[in-house]
Amino acid sequence: MKGKDLHKKLFVLDSHCDTPIRLLAGYDINIRGEEGHFDFIRMEEGGLNAAFFAIYTPNTIEPDTATRRALQMIARTYDAVEASNGKAAVALDAQDARDNFESGVLSVFLGMENGLPIQKDLSLLRLFYDMGVRYMTLTHAGNNEICDSCATKEKRWNGLSPFGEEVVKEMNRLGMLIDVSHISDDSFKDIIKLSKGPVVATHSCCRAIANHPRNLTDDMIKDIASTGGVVQINFYPPFLDSEYAEKFWPLCDAFEEAEKRWKEDPVKYIDEYEQAKREMFALKRPSYKQVVDHIDHVVKLVGVQHVGIGTDFDGIEVAPEGVESVDKLVVITEELLERGYSEDSVKLILGENFLRLLE
Ligand SMILES: [Zn+2]
Repeated sequence: MKGKDLHKKLFVLDSHCDTPIRLLAGYDINIRGEEGHFDFIRMEEGGLNAAFFAIYTPNTIEPDTATRRALQMIARTYDAVEASNGKAAVALDAQDARDNFESGVLSVFLGMENGLPIQKDLSLLRLFYDMGVRYMTLTHAGNNEICDSCATKEKRWNGLSPFGEEVVKEMNRLGMLIDVSHISDDSFKDIIKLSKGPVVATHSCCRAIANHPRNLTDDMIKDIASTGGVVQINFYPPFLDSEYAEKFWPLCDAFEEAEKRWKEDPVKYIDEYEQAKREMFALKRPSYKQVVDHIDHVVKLVGVQHVGIGTDFDGIEVAPEGVESVDKLVVITEELLERGYSEDSVKLILGENFLRLLE
């Protein structure tokens, strides 16, 4: 079967997109957007059947603010789904997603990126589960009450905190997936030892190909597979390619600085902002084929049942060449077939592996 035909037939799942950030900013994902990577129209065009919306909070805000922001993001997600007039529906488990797929409805799952909104209260974790949150990324770019981040120089707990251990046990009890993307290597080790359920990385690449603390070592990939979990490959170009990353980070820092100033004074700083943006986008980006290189690497290490895609769309400034937004996802299927993957293997990678964990 041709890639295009196969892709249309398959159930395709993306385990991480940051579209709720855009919902908070007032974007309407029920119309085809010029900006951003994702809306329901482009989702359908890209043959994507289910997407996890990340309820993301930064570690820099106060816990109460984080809780409120998480609630707002969930509410905006429900609003956007309702406004779709049946085009999309919130899914709570694999059966929901399969039923939606059968009737041509797009599924939106909720995942929480950063445990900050649960503060130090397991009952809040439970409440978020009841609202539909099916995985939690334990922290983001800072250490929190649960564990340390891979992004910090100074670690606070050197792994999971005592509260973090309770969180892992409660997530196991609730049947909420534990997401290890963004956490420190020591936190990862503690979770692997403690968790009784499958552990996932919802948007992480391979350190053997691109050396970055956000990426997973081969041992970590093996550990995730040993829990029955899945590594969902991130599309963020600097996580895909070290050479690109070296040139990209300074341009990205400059862009973020310019953006901050521009937001404070849009008239005065517009030229500087546009210039920084142009320079960042002028750098030649890795292609979608490098996403498939990372998929290949995981398959070679642990087999075809432990890998998938977690694009990070709408959470990343740039996307790979050839898959600039969600409507272009078919290229991944085509490239997998090109490399000799069977149709059954493609089916597992593009959706069934992650769906299995939601059964
Ligand atoms: Zn992330």
